Amino acid sequence: VLNTNKDEQANKNKKKKIAVLTSGGDSQGMCSAVRAVVRAGIFYDCDVFAIYEGYSGLVQGGSLIKKMQWQDVRGWLALGGTLIGTARCMEFREKWGRLQAAKNMVVNGIDALVVCGGDGSLTGADLFRSEWPSLLEELVSKGELTKEEVAPYQNLTIVGLVGSIDNDMAGTDSTIGANSSLERIREMVDYIDATATSHSRAFVVEVMGRHCGWLALNAGIATGADYIFIPERAANPSTWKDELKVVCARHRAKGKRNTTVIVAEGALDSDLKPITSEDVKNVLVELGLDTRITTLGHVQRGGVAVASDRLLATLQGVEAVKAVLELTPADPSPLIGILENKIIRTPLVEAVKNTKLVATAIAAKDFDKAISLRNTDFIESYQNYISISQHDDGSNVLPEGKQLNIAIVHVGASSAALNPATRAFVLYALSKGHKPYAIENGFSGLIRHGSVKELKWQDVEAWHGLGGSEIGTNRSLPSLDLGTVAFYFQKYKFDGLIIAGGFEGFTALHQLTNARDQFPAFNIPLTLIPATVSNNVPGTEYSLGSDTCLNSLVDYCDAVKQSASATRRRVFVVEVQGGHSGFVASMIGLVTGAVAVYTPEEKINLKTIQEDIDLLKENYKQDQGENRSGKMLIRNEQASSIFSTELIADIIQESSNNKFETRTAIPGHVQQGGQPTAVDRVNASRFAIKCTKFIEEFNFKINDTDLDGATKELRFKYEHGKKVSTVPHIEESAAVIGVKGSELTFTPVNQLWDNETDVALRKGTNIHWESITAIGDILSGRLLLRNKD
Ligand code: ATP
Repeated sequence: VLNTNKDEQANKNKKKKIAVLTSGGDSQGMCSAVRAVVRAGIFYDCDVFAIYEGYSGLVQGGSLIKKMQWQDVRGWLALGGTLIGTARCMEFREKWGRLQAAKNMVVNGIDALVVCGGDGSLTGADLFRSEWPSLLEELVSKGELTKEEVAPYQNLTIVGLVGSIDNDMAGTDSTIGANSSLERIREMVDYIDATATSHSRAFVVEVMGRHCGWLALNAGIATGADYIFIPERAANPSTWKDELKVVCARHRAKGKRNTTVIVAEGALDSDLKPITSEDVKNVLVELGLDTRITTLGHVQRGGVAVASDRLLATLQGVEAVKAVLELTPADPSPLIGILENKIIRTPLVEAVKNTKLVATAIAAKDFDKAISLRNTDFIESYQNYISISQHDDGSNVLPEGKQLNIAIVHVGASSAALNPATRAFVLYALSKGHKPYAIENGFSGLIRHGSVKELKWQDVEAWHGLGGSEIGTNRSLPSLDLGTVAFYFQKYKFDGLIIAGGFEGFTALHQLTNARDQFPAFNIPLTLIPATVSNNVPGTEYSLGSDTCLNSLVDYCDAVKQSASATRRRVFVVEVQGGHSGFVASMIGLVTGAVAVYTPEEKINLKTIQEDIDLLKENYKQDQGENRSGKMLIRNEQASSIFSTELIADIIQESSNNKFETRTAIPGHVQQGGQPTAVDRVNASRFAIKCTKFIEEFNFKINDTDLDGATKELRFKYEHGKKVSTVPHIEESAAVIGVKGSELTFTPVNQLWDNETDVALRKGTNIHWESITAIGDILSGRLLLRNKD
């Protein structure tokens, strides 16, 4: 549609000049965000400027405002902190400082600002925008700029990205850096646990987070801590010491050799008196425990960003540029956030206001309000933490008729978060008075050996940090002998089953569900926790273990790229797992900055390989001095039956006229192993507890008076002569838990199997990572090159 408004049209035709700055405390992933803004900006035909040293750069101007080129941000994904610097800038808090900043913006022709920082930085950005017209007027009235000079800059666009390790911003599930910081804490506490267990010691670990307890809470879940102190749940001043002693003593009496207490730096009691690590230590010493304090400090901000932060920062950086291009002067400034798996825009002012309300609620001693202002998953995580760490005292046990027998089985290849999921299931189930059973060594273990074991608190307590599968996993399916499976289900009177696994687990769930008519023992709630590095289970965009896999690949690929960089002319082709699903390849390509990604979804042919060779040559052309970086291509193991990893490497080498040489690298089973990451551990707890609640819910709905004389164990009754299940909504009672866009939900297995599954290729029909591939093509430069041609 032709725009008839001349001013608006002129505005639209003007090349956008976007500036990006990082401000406040640094966090891992800020470099990735800047890289994404720079490259997406250039791709969308904007000029992009980096403002060095946060708002100070904007106030001082000059060389601190630098126009960025594509190659300036090469290699930034693998770097920690922020390479354009950050600062706390007092001048920007003053009107004269902002006036100076406005002048520098206009002088450089910049009319859009992407700010990556915490709530303070975003408050400053919003204030800057609201004052903008008056700042321009003042610049003219003081004679610093002419009317004509300011005329094209009447509207300032502001977009906020939250870069903060604290994860304290309302309106987003995660801030850039929070997962990396949590991972640093997880690693450190795992190290500490080893020595604590050796000496039978107690450790008080102090973590960052200021007024926010997110890091402490999630570290508590991820490390199996005995107790945590967070600002949103202020401790009772007269009872907390005794409560702490009771919990720690109880865990010791059950056989634990180490005690871990996580204290958020903002922890306090309900009189607003800080609870310090020293206070906590003194209590543990009174209990007779040899206790040490470890204050983790700046380690938590350090190191390179984990895969999920690189991804978050990259997707949000690209979204920020799109927002700049789409926003009109009437739109409120957006903050780019994430809900579950979906990148969202939310009004910046509201998010900042709600964030500040938490501190106000805490100051007013309204702790219920404080916790309710955090995201819903904060409250859920808190409740989960309490049920698996403190409700082992029997205080939450259900009445006898409601106590269930629930089994868990691992199916398929090993992945990293099977044990933490099993632990959370068992601890939660025990807290409710249920009996948790492990079916050992998969369905063949059950069929051949009847291997069923009732799990106790002490069996699983230390499984939060273990990779692999303590109860054993294999690929066998119930169809091996459905009758025997049903026999054992009946023998142990299972009221529900949790399967943890990948596509085989999904197939097992489908087989049991479809055998329900034949075997009443399967008329129980059946759930699948997707757990596979390939992330190919229909009904979910995330599977347990995939985060650990991506992080081990990130380390691997960073090392490979570094080696490639040192050898100058060497290109690596890295082969990753994933079966027929290109998820891992696409993801790892995006977060490590691969030149190209080969997946089963996009067929490889000579034309695409030629395109990659051209892109490699272009890359080498731009490579100079410090902008040099290693080149890497990622190939999924099943991307093509013809173009093997070796063949691609050979073709590239042969076609380069000796300009570069190629090497292949295959990380193999490293991708399935290792200790689970914090993200996988926290999600394992979340999924396992949700599945157990799902089983409870369906069982509690069974009304015994409806049974028409049938016993509950038969799990069906007769209605008008027809056999019907006693489990209400039987179709819905066999389901896969999964993340879909912005929601965590259960989807009935038959619905998925019939409508969303490619059985032959063992994956879902919904390629939920499609947009990742497209963004990867933008940021690698492939699309730019294609457009040039
Ligand atoms: P973090 O969460 O890591 O502390 P933050 O962005 O909240 O990050 P702050 O120190 O509060 O960190 O803010 C960073 C900078 O943002 C300040 O030094 C200042 O330049 C600017 N800023 C903060 N608040 C305001 C405000 N109310 N008005 C103008 N500028 C502000």
